[in-house]
Amino acid sequence: MKSPSTAPAPNARALARRMYRARMSEEKRKETNRRRSERRRQQQKKQLLEATFNLLVDSLLEESVETVLQGEQHQGTTLSISSLDSEQICLCKDHENFSFLVTAISKYLPGCDTTEDFLEIVTCDINDIKCMAGHCLDCNEPIVDILYLLISPDNINRKVKYKQLQEAHIELLVLHENTVGQLISIASEKASAGYKFHHYTNKVQQIAFENNRANSSVFEVFLHIDYASRYADEVTIFTAIVYAGENHLLLTLIADDATEDYCSTITFLKAVIKELKEKFPTVMEIKIVSADGNASHFKSKSNLGNLVYYQQDYEINTISWDFFALYHGKGEIDFVGNSIKNYVKEKADLQNVIIDSAEKFYTYAKDHEDISVIYVKREELVEDCEVLKARTFSFPNIEGLENLHHFEVVCGTTPYDMQLKCWPTSKCEEDFEIVIDYTLYEYDVLEESTNNKSVISAD
Ligand SMILES: [Zn+2]
Ligand SMILES: [Zn+2]
Repeated sequence: MKSPSTAPAPNARALARRMYRARMSEEKRKETNRRRSERRRQQQKKQLLEATFNLLVDSLLEESVETVLQGEQHQGTTLSISSLDSEQICLCKDHENFSFLVTAISKYLPGCDTTEDFLEIVTCDINDIKCMAGHCLDCNEPIVDILYLLISPDNINRKVKYKQLQEAHIELLVLHENTVGQLISIASEKASAGYKFHHYTNKVQQIAFENNRANSSVFEVFLHIDYASRYADEVTIFTAIVYAGENHLLLTLIADDATEDYCSTITFLKAVIKELKEKFPTVMEIKIVSADGNASHFKSKSNLGNLVYYQQDYEINTISWDFFALYHGKGEIDFVGNSIKNYVKEKADLQNVIIDSAEKFYTYAKDHEDISVIYVKREELVEDCEVLKARTFSFPNIEGLENLHHFEVVCGTTPYDMQLKCWPTSKCEEDFEIVIDYTLYEYDVLEESTNNKSVISAD
């Protein structure tokens, strides 16, 4: 029989909560926020641009770029850095291609030098989600008509060349040629068809990423997670960076060939949260962030619905999950995975050892000076998966999940009623809020990840 769980409320938690509230008074938070984000914004923007640009250039150089120019093929095109200007906030293919279009049009469209300029011309307010999501009647006038008014009639039929990364092969950069008029139509269609909304959500999420990191503390940690690519095909590597104010915690979790589905993710997260709670015992709030793009890893109704169990599983007050553009913050989280792999490889090569299992990888990795390494047993992944499958079986669908980027858990009227609130961005705009109800069951309890920890029994 299912029965409601009891509300966990130990005294230590109440005390920590009081300390947390006293310390983080609204005014102080705002001031700290302003100062820190200003300082870090410039630095992070630079890091992001460098890291992403390097990734892009690496892939372009490795794959031998082909340029198709008026039917002829030319080898060895170099990607121009000019499009990666400071206005650009996401470096995905859509952003990159839109930027190429705007660059080509800009000469003929006064005051339109960047994608932001273009969007400002065709939108009432680029900071209003209603305009950017296509819910504003004023913005819904055909964009192309507005742009035609701004262009000299002599230039409408002028031919221009522009670059585009291919749909299926991001490494393939193709040179096209079209008239200015046609280009305006293409850019307008792309903007209306979803680029505006993509641009808006990425911009808001980038600001949230920087603010969350800058505002993190030992009470309110910011947790960036990702899977690194496997080692020797057999070793699954899950990486995490915990930001708690000036304190950082770098973590790598190792397992034998895990499925990397939502079950594995939750088991890895369980170990991460246990570790971060040991290091920061006052933590009451966890803000998880991950890259948008891999639904099986993170963006599923099972993984996100399971957030309603975090209070019960980990005794924390609040939990949220944000999704960011694929490349955002990638440099730092990739650094953790790459460092540990290089460290193991160097040691193994010196001793002429072949690393063919997670256990062996762990043996060579565990002494890393800066990165804590945790070995997750296969039995634990299997046990958790059984609990999670039962728990998530009846979870409702989250409609339009691909367009949602911020999730928060809210308590319902009883300890076993929980709600997941979902929004397109962490601005949490009311008109775009989706609320999903869940009921918690006592038997659905994830066991602690070490043997010597107390285990909550199930009826
Ligand atoms: Zn993008
Ligand atoms: Zn509008």
